[in-house]
Amino acid sequence: MSWRSGDFNRAQISSVFHPFVPAHAADSLHEVDLQKLWDRGKRLLLLDVDNTLVQWRKEDFPGEILSWLEQAKALGFQICIVSNTRRVERLTRIAATLGVSTVRGRFKPSRQMFAKALDLFDRGPQEAIMIGDQLLTDVLGANRAGIEAIWVRKMDAHEFGGTRINRMMENLLRGPIYQALVTPVDETPAAPDLERAKPLAERTIIHQIVKFCVVGATSFVIDAGLTYLFVKVLPWHGGLLSDTLGNWLRGAAPGIFKYAKTPDAAATPILTGAAALVAMFNSFVWNRSWTFEVRGKEEQLGQLRRFYAVSIIGFVMNDLITSGIYNRFRHMKNALLLGKFVAAFVVAVWNFIGQRFYAFRH
Ligand SMILES: [Mg+2]
Repeated sequence: MSWRSGDFNRAQISSVFHPFVPAHAADSLHEVDLQKLWDRGKRLLLLDVDNTLVQWRKEDFPGEILSWLEQAKALGFQICIVSNTRRVERLTRIAATLGVSTVRGRFKPSRQMFAKALDLFDRGPQEAIMIGDQLLTDVLGANRAGIEAIWVRKMDAHEFGGTRINRMMENLLRGPIYQALVTPVDETPAAPDLERAKPLAERTIIHQIVKFCVVGATSFVIDAGLTYLFVKVLPWHGGLLSDTLGNWLRGAAPGIFKYAKTPDAAATPILTGAAALVAMFNSFVWNRSWTFEVRGKEEQLGQLRRFYAVSIIGFVMNDLITSGIYNRFRHMKNALLLGKFVAAFVVAVWNFIGQRFYAFRH
């Protein structure tokens, strides 16, 4: 979905989304109309750093940004950076270079930093405006603190890893949030509207979900089959692979494997992990070329890396959810099965979103 800027009216959409709706979206910080903000009674500018003021990890400010800040100071605005960065020295340098204040504190969307900044300048929330590039931190945090937010387009594609996960959520929110756009400055409705006009069964996303489920089923068969093969069938040095490996593991690291009552219990986590990695590769190949129809080889390694990151997190989630539900409801007869079902569903949704918006993003 392409970037759109303009004023938002949250009354146009469901209240579920209101916490994420900015007052305005701008192509860049220097496109924000300072005079208009001043006329509306805003006196305190709260600014995000990375990808709003300057590129992530960089400290060379674009000329337009510097002159925008000079204009803000000339109008009489108080300016304060709100940042939870761990690179305090960089933040201090940036604040000194720009001649602005900073507050640090808990991660946005916590209200803490916003409250600190209002305190510092003795301003009410109506007098402040937050400007940042992320819906889930800058905009949500400001809205929670009762401060209007302006959402700016991120300066650059380079971002912190955690931010990229936020962006996946942000991409999901953009559809509903753009419905609240009242005075679009630049609109490119052609592609999404064409897609929306199609009957449900012909939409790309439905096709992708169906294919994703088919691929998931083949990976499940591979996973279960290989696990069975590794644990129960394959021989190795005069015994079963699982027993031989388990005996060796218990001998090599008795401390770690003391929980294992039998040799194969020591080897099972490793063998199931190996089966899962092979099954993940099956999913990678088919979801890449068939489900999400990714063409070209240039990006392949990056896709594989991102795919495995998503899948391994999913694998861990699967374990945690299954055992969590099992432990909570262990008095019920089918607690383990219930845990497996819920985990399978949650992880399938996680993997689909992770692959579509992250691993195989364009
Ligand atoms: Mg940012």
